[in-house]
Amino acid sequence: MRQSLVAGNWKMHGSQGMARELVPALVGALRGVEAEIVVCPPFPFLPLASDLLKGSSIALGAQDLHTAESGACTGDVSGPMLRDVGCTWVIVGHSERRAGHDEQDVLVADKALAALRAGLRPIVCVGETARQRESGQALRVVAGQFAALLARLGPGFAESLTLAYEPVWAIGTGVTASPEQAQEMHHRLRAQAESHAQGLGARMRLLYGGSVKAANAAELFGMPDIDGGLIGSASLDAGEFVAICRAAEGMSWNK
Ligand code: PEP
Repeated sequence: MRQSLVAGNWKMHGSQGMARELVPALVGALRGVEAEIVVCPPFPFLPLASDLLKGSSIALGAQDLHTAESGACTGDVSGPMLRDVGCTWVIVGHSERRAGHDEQDVLVADKALAALRAGLRPIVCVGETARQRESGQALRVVAGQFAALLARLGPGFAESLTLAYEPVWAIGTGVTASPEQAQEMHHRLRAQAESHAQGLGARMRLLYGGSVKAANAAELFGMPDIDGGLIGSASLDAGEFVAICRAAEGMSWNK
């Protein structure tokens, strides 16, 4: 049984004041929700968000981490530091980091490994660009990103992985992959996980990300291989994010 999961990626948005309004609103509205919910604020707001989430079932995640546990890495943050401030999840390999910080597959895999070693659950992002999809390369590109990850992690660690399929052309654009396009990719990724280790395909949670809104969440999450979503801009709006979480509720029982 895979429980549905919705993670909110605030990206580089927000303030302490915004966190003080948004987080308690989510805690109140999502009490008892039958889905796993994670919020991922920027680093400076993690301790505050951690305090605001105390006693709730909503988990705290970060948006990135360094591969090392500590060291001379100015400006970076390690897995143990994230654990120390209450994180249990971390996003790894988001396309904005792959593009803006030149993060390649091997580094992404090493970050996922560092997260797992620190006791964090990584949500690893994969996805193709518009040009790659238009040239018929989407399946090959995404399979390659996932293969690089699996090769580095080994079967034991792969069990603890959550994968987010996020087509780059759908992130922050308002253009969502159709449920059929998303399902096709998720189905392929699940088959790839299964051929890596027996049973992994059925167990691994696969999220969709890319302009998910309250209006399209239920249709996407209703697809057989989609277990929830990684949500960007809509996670900054309490009403939208709560409605998206509600759309994921109970989906796991159908799959
Ligand atoms: C994201 O940041 O992972 C994302 C999917 O963003 P958005 O929902 O805004 O497209």
